[in-house]
Amino acid sequence: MAAAISASMAAKNGRAAWRVVLLEKNDRTGAKIRISGGGKCNVTHSGQPGELLEKGFLRRNEQRFLRQSIFGFTGADLLAMLREQGVETEARADGNIFPSSGNAMSVVRVFDGLIGQHGVDLHVSCRVKIVRKSAEGFFVETETCGTFEADALILATGGVSYARTGTSGDGLSIARKLGHSIVTPAPALAPVYSMQPFPGELSGISLRQAKLIASSGTQNAECQGDILFTHKGFSGPAVLSLSRYIAEFSAAGETRLFADLLPHQGREELEKILLFQATENGKRLVRKFLQSCPVAPPAGSFSIGAHGTLPTAIVPYILRFSGIGENITWGGLTRDMRKSLQSVLKRFPLGIVRKVPLDEGEVSAGGVSLCEINPKTMESRIVPGLFICGELLDYAGEVGGYNLQAAFSTGWNAGRNAVRMTQPAQE
Ligand SMILES: Cc1cc2nc3c(=O)[nH]c(=O)nc-3n(C[C@H](O)[C@H](O)[C@H](O)COP(=O)(O)OP(=O)(O)OC[C@H]3O[C@@H](n4cnc5c(N)ncnc54)[C@H](O)[C@@H]3O)c2cc1C
Repeated sequence: MAAAISASMAAKNGRAAWRVVLLEKNDRTGAKIRISGGGKCNVTHSGQPGELLEKGFLRRNEQRFLRQSIFGFTGADLLAMLREQGVETEARADGNIFPSSGNAMSVVRVFDGLIGQHGVDLHVSCRVKIVRKSAEGFFVETETCGTFEADALILATGGVSYARTGTSGDGLSIARKLGHSIVTPAPALAPVYSMQPFPGELSGISLRQAKLIASSGTQNAECQGDILFTHKGFSGPAVLSLSRYIAEFSAAGETRLFADLLPHQGREELEKILLFQATENGKRLVRKFLQSCPVAPPAGSFSIGAHGTLPTAIVPYILRFSGIGENITWGGLTRDMRKSLQSVLKRFPLGIVRKVPLDEGEVSAGGVSLCEINPKTMESRIVPGLFICGELLDYAGEVGGYNLQAAFSTGWNAGRNAVRMTQPAQE
């Protein structure tokens, strides 16, 4: 949609006559925007474009690739466009920006409105089946609405997760047939299924601000944030963020997950805290201490802060994994038990990963290889006149509005350049 709007705007400014046609497989536009951010649409992230790239895209090659698009159509440009069309937005404390109405539909309506205003010829329920390139241009065959010929073609068919929203990977096979290399799609921002999920009593419980550690052979990856227990394994921001690595690790070998429940306490500091309990609170139950254990206290200050205390339901598991009975007091704790408790608090075992489900990812990694696309224009380096944008490309952003912004920015870039760089054939 962003590509079609920017192409139409560029066409109006140019000398040649263009007709911009948008072919959408679903019976309406913006299926993913409608469900994004839990129906509230985290449309972008606050901050300068450089910060957005750095926080939103952890891989350097992705940052480099997206740079010109994100600087060309920034978060501020997007918000101004929404405001002009009557949609106010607000940033939350974490920098995530949503429409103030809390309704993703307001964003879809802006894009639908602009598509109408700029005279884009929209065809819905129109699945593209085949694309061929010849000296005359592109030939596009659809399932239900006939054929189209075009001087320039923009592929913006999205990733491969949530296939029910229309993203079933058609664009990948079209791009492959046109000569592009495809990096195998892989899950990102996805939940993780465990070999032996924790009992249902923990489902829905969060380990707030813990550090999630994924470990496979010599490979390790970690991320701090909330970890949510689900009936099949884990979800929540830290899990979603690390899921791309977890999927890569588990494709190569057994991957185990751990949670550091006190990420800011080094082993030395934690040892002092536990020793203090053992010497000063001999009659107190270890269980009681754990039940009042603060969440993510800063280093050097072991007190309860904004995030409260560890969830009570997790305490029996900490005790069990440490080999400590429910009724043991600090006085009755052996040195080995104390050491074991220390290691469980720093590396609470979450079990072995069974699967990272590709279809359940908010985005999918993989897609059309970035090396084959000119980042200045989004034009294919393989097929002149072909432009590729959005999640169909081999990048995947973090949670926080980065993925929609990348789709809008690359789409904007592609649309503008498809018109600027292509000379339409004379009728
Ligand atoms: C549950 C969920 C929540 C999300 N929440 C957020 C969020 O809050 N913030 C954020 O930044 N990102 C979010 N994302 C990610 C974001 O929605 C996507 O990264 C973004 O929509 C990608 O945009 P796109 O235009 O590349 O692809 P899409 O938005 O997926 O659009 C591709 C379009 O191409 C159409 N299409 C596919 N094949 C064909 C064909 N053969 N012929 C014709 N049309 C075709 C599809 O029907 C679809 O409408 C979320 C994703 C999901 C699944």
